[in-house]
Amino acid sequence: MITKKSRHEINLMKTAGSIVAEVHELMKELVKPGVSTLELDEKAEKLIRNNNAIPAFKGYHGFPGSICASVNEQVVHGIPGKDVILKDGDIISVDVGAIYKGLVGDAAITLPVGEITDELKQLLKVTEEALYAGIEQVLAGNRIYETVSAAVEDKANEYGYGIVRNYGGHGIGRNMHEEPFVYNFRPGPPGPELKPGMAICIEPMFNLGVGTVHTESDKWTVVTDDGKPSAHFEHTILVTDSGPLILTQFHNKVK
Ligand code: MG
Repeated sequence: MITKKSRHEINLMKTAGSIVAEVHELMKELVKPGVSTLELDEKAEKLIRNNNAIPAFKGYHGFPGSICASVNEQVVHGIPGKDVILKDGDIISVDVGAIYKGLVGDAAITLPVGEITDELKQLLKVTEEALYAGIEQVLAGNRIYETVSAAVEDKANEYGYGIVRNYGGHGIGRNMHEEPFVYNFRPGPPGPELKPGMAICIEPMFNLGVGTVHTESDKWTVVTDDGKPSAHFEHTILVTDSGPLILTQFHNKVK
């Protein structure tokens, strides 16, 4: 079932989204060569809890971290660790979710560590552009797969990037993962119609090489099959009568 949010729930989601945005701002400050992904995780968790929120990922199906920290060829679900030390030239995707009074915000960014190659700069730029191309299509009356998913797919194809097909976006609200699934490519059917009050996460994952991925022996970390780097950007977006509203950005918080 696709849920529609009440005004009150939307305000709570804006607050959850603001906290997620703050975590990402903090990550931009902290990500540099020599930092461990466990350190990032601990600081993210502290910020979330200091805002009277709960890290949505911690304990989700047993996931041990408050953030997913995925480095280079890791696509999503990287487990933060004290031995995972960032190096100059790496890229790191930080996916984070916060639950505020029962409502969830979820977003991801991929950040450069020190100086990265032009090839990687372009991968990050284009993956983020694909997210915004998808967001532009979050309009009441649009059918998701022939608009949002299509816009994301077209961006990857323009640059020849591999699209990760096994994972994608989702509805969100009182649960982190609600219907509908939001493909990063045209799956065939036009998909559900977007209606005011629906909230979805759009999250393109583009690879420099092939789009195919597998899960490592830790049962979490998803990596590219060819070992080439991957980027991931995500926002939580509300469908409104006046267009898309990004919830995972700074808003006035409600108590
Ligand atoms: Mg998500």
